[in-house]
Amino acid sequence: MKKHNFSAGPSILPQEVLLKASEAIMDFNNDGLSLLEISHRSKSFVDVMEKARSLALELLGLEGKGYKALFLQGGASTQFLMVALNLLEKRAAYLNTGTWSDKAVKEAKIYDDILEVASSKDAGYNYIPKGFDIPSDHDYLHITSNNTIFGTQMKTIPNSPIPLVCDMSSDIFSRTLDYSKFDLIYAGAQKNMGPAGTTLVIVKEDVLGNVSRKIPSMMDYKVHISKSSMFNTPPVFAVYTSMLTLEWLKNLGGIKAIEEVNEMKARVMYSEIDLNPLFKGYANKEDRSNMNATFTLANEDLKETFETMLKEAGISGLNGHRSIGGYRASMYNALPLDSVKALVEVMSELETKA
Ligand SMILES: *Cc1c(COP(=O)(O)O)cnc(C)c1O
Repeated sequence: MKKHNFSAGPSILPQEVLLKASEAIMDFNNDGLSLLEISHRSKSFVDVMEKARSLALELLGLEGKGYKALFLQGGASTQFLMVALNLLEKRAAYLNTGTWSDKAVKEAKIYDDILEVASSKDAGYNYIPKGFDIPSDHDYLHITSNNTIFGTQMKTIPNSPIPLVCDMSSDIFSRTLDYSKFDLIYAGAQKNMGPAGTTLVIVKEDVLGNVSRKIPSMMDYKVHISKSSMFNTPPVFAVYTSMLTLEWLKNLGGIKAIEEVNEMKARVMYSEIDLNPLFKGYANKEDRSNMNATFTLANEDLKETFETMLKEAGISGLNGHRSIGGYRASMYNALPLDSVKALVEVMSELETKA
C-alpha cells in the first residue's frame, strides 16, 4: 500500500509523474528506446530540456523579464560556491537563518570576509530575523526562503537595494511571490520539483559578467546559458521528471492553486500541534513554514506508542533532522491534504490514549 510520505528530501512526487517517468524508462515517446539510452542532443531530449526551462520561468511569472533557467548538477550545495564565484567581487551580505545558510556563508568566505546582516543561530534558528539593514555597497544579499531543517519560512521578502540571491530549495513553486524581486534563485530538485540529481537555477542575465576573476567553465553561469543548459551531458532523468512535475503543476492551475492547498495543509497541521497538549511546535509561530512543520513530543515516554501508531497508519518520513531531533512533517506540493489528515488523526488519537 502507498504510504503517506512526509519525507524532507528526496520527497514525494505526484503519482502520475512517477507513472509517466517509469514509462519513459522503458519506452520514451513510443520511439522504441528508453529515455536513459538516447543522446541528450536528440530532438526528443532537447525538447524536454527546453520545455522544462520555459515551464519554470512561466510558472514563476518570469517569462520575458531577462531571466534564464538552467538545470545544473552538484546540488544546491554547489550553488553556495557558484553564486560567490559568479557574483562576489568585493563583499557580500548573508542572512543566516539555518544550517543551509550557514553552509552558504562558509563557501562564500573562501573568497571574502562575508557580512552576516543578521542571524538566528543564537536561538537554535527557530525564528527569522527582521528589521536588519541591507548595505547598499555590497555585491548581493543572500537569503534562504525556507529553512527545511528548522521549519521556518520568510513570509516577506526584503526589498533589497542590491541583487537578491535566494536558496529556494524547499519552497520553490509552493507560494505566490513577486519573483521578479530576485536576481538569482536556486533550488535542488529533490524537495519540491523532482528526483535528486539536478538543481534549478533562475538567473537574471544582467547580474552576470561583473566580476574580474576567471571562472572555470562548469562553474560559469554564462557558459551554461550560452549552451542552453547543455554545456555537458545533463542529468536526463532528473530533468525529464522535473518537467513532468512542472507540467502537473501547470495543469493544476499553477502556483496560485497549489498555494491554497498548501495553506490548508499547514492550517490543519499547526492547529493540531497547537491544540494537542502532547505536542510542542519548534518554530516561532509567525515564521512557521508551510512546507516543513517541526514539533516535539512533550512527554518522551509516549515516543514508542506514537511511533508504532504512525507505522500502523502508514505514515513515513516523519523523523526530524538528525541535528534537532523531534518530528518534521514535510508537506511539499505533491503531498495530498488527506495525508496531513491521516497524521493529525494519529496525533489526536494519541491524546485519547495518554
Ligand atoms: C536540501 C537543501 C540544500 C542542500 O541541497 P543538496 O542538493 O543536497 O546540495 C540546500 N538548501 C536547502 C534550503 C535545502 O533544503
